[in-house]
Amino acid sequence: MKTIICGSGIGGLVTAIRLADKGIPVEIYEKNFYAGGKMGEFRKSGFRFDTGPSVITMPDLIIDLFNDTGRHVEDYLEFIKPEISCRYFWEDGTVFNSFNNKTYCKDELKKVFSESESINFSKFIDYSKNFFELYNDIFGKVEFNIRDYLSKKYLANFTKFVSGRSINDVSNKFFREKKLKQIINRYATFTGSSPYLIPQFFSVIPYVEFEFGSFYLKDGMYSLALALEKICGEYGIEIRYGQELVKIESEGKRIKKLFFRNKDNLITETTGFENVVSNFTNMKELTGKNYFDNTDWSSSGFIMMLGINREFKELAYHNVFFSNDYENEYIDIYENKIPADDMTIYLSVSSKFNGVDAPQSMENWFLFVNVPYLSRKFEWNDNSKKEYFVKVLNKLDRFSYLFDDSIRNHIIFSEIYSPEEFKNLYNSEFGSIYGLSSNSIYTLMKRIKNKSSQFGNLYFTGGNTNPGGGIPLCFLSAKSVAGMIK
Ligand SMILES: Cc1cc2nc3c(=O)[nH]c(=O)nc-3n(C[C@H](O)[C@H](O)[C@H](O)COP(=O)(O)OP(=O)(O)OC[C@H]3O[C@@H](n4cnc5c(N)ncnc54)[C@H](O)[C@@H]3O)c2cc1C
Repeated sequence: MKTIICGSGIGGLVTAIRLADKGIPVEIYEKNFYAGGKMGEFRKSGFRFDTGPSVITMPDLIIDLFNDTGRHVEDYLEFIKPEISCRYFWEDGTVFNSFNNKTYCKDELKKVFSESESINFSKFIDYSKNFFELYNDIFGKVEFNIRDYLSKKYLANFTKFVSGRSINDVSNKFFREKKLKQIINRYATFTGSSPYLIPQFFSVIPYVEFEFGSFYLKDGMYSLALALEKICGEYGIEIRYGQELVKIESEGKRIKKLFFRNKDNLITETTGFENVVSNFTNMKELTGKNYFDNTDWSSSGFIMMLGINREFKELAYHNVFFSNDYENEYIDIYENKIPADDMTIYLSVSSKFNGVDAPQSMENWFLFVNVPYLSRKFEWNDNSKKEYFVKVLNKLDRFSYLFDDSIRNHIIFSEIYSPEEFKNLYNSEFGSIYGLSSNSIYTLMKRIKNKSSQFGNLYFTGGNTNPGGGIPLCFLSAKSVAGMIK
């Protein structure tokens, strides 16, 4: 009997493919009119933007799907390893190139900071490797279970895991340069969390990037969603777009009926399935159960997509413009729950790789600022969006050594996504990007499990579930769920 998958984000698509590959009939219902969820795309006036991920780490976890289903990944995707994984800028004119090659990276550390910081960096990598081993042995497993940590083999690392140290504590332990600490601390934001709160275990994230590199896809990140949609087609999986799950009916511990609403507000009933896989976790109204009993959500984002009428040679594909006071920035985001006035800005310019992403001699700027999830403390409306847009441009103006005049003189058009758009587009709780934050070991344990404890035939896949957010982990969660259903 078939499995119904609700949502065609990466987790939903990969679960569908894995099930179909084992001969299980699958249907996908998606509320939007495209596949990929947060891995989306926006096009305007000859410019193309990836609206979600721009970095791939651990590509092996993606390639695994192609291998397992008898495909060659090269027939669908081309991974590129850029020479520079990220270029960091500070207002005082300091520039640091984070090379995708460890030797170059150490040389750059020597050049920009000092010989001793370069040595400290090697020590930091050795230290965070412990967490990668712990991650590989336990976290990447089918189901996260705290008991797994308590075996003798892992006890030493487990003690480090629960030590109460944050990524910022690790940065302080290894480095003296404030700017270098900022670089390492920023990796906490890859889980939508604060470097000052997130357990030190997450220094596994910079470890993975420095050790194995960061990647991009030649035809844009969205080509991954398109490749998965294509593979679904190869299995004859139907993706029903514009179908939002709005009601669930159950008998005892089994879901028996699903109700979907289409764009004309018509509701249809679906029955005759064995299992249901949800690619979203915002299920309180549907199931009557609060899957999360705390509200420490991960951060959201303020996105500005700008068509720019010239090229900037000083920019790399990934760029970060740092705030002057990182700690205060995160106090604003996680404690005050307001967008920071002096913000760190991430800028990706995919036209640096893909000429087709912008008209000739122009650039497609995708700016991203971490902002709090939606709460009563700050309202995103037309005015506040415009005000924040201006604040971000003002911040860029302070990097006058890069831009000879204000960037606002070069904007052809702008498109903004605030946390409100995140909530509405992806049905994510309070506009958060990764569901619960990873700000403490307790929220980590509350991360939603892949199998529902409420219904015997309900499963959860994707970045808001185990083992965590981001593209590679979505592939892992989908593998787990498909394994459980089989
Ligand atoms: C701006 C941004 C930048 C990011 N950068 C990176 C990065 O560089 N690297 C990285 O690895 N990760 C990154 N991520 C995270 C990554 O994109 C996500 O972790 C991943 O895409 C989540 O996939 P998912 O399977 O959880 O599904 P989602 O993308 O959350 O999709 C869920 C799907 O379910 C659908 N849905 C929701 N409710 C319903 C309903 N009621 N009925 C039917 N369908 C429904 C939604 O429309 C959506 O299509 C980024 C995310 C964002 C937003």
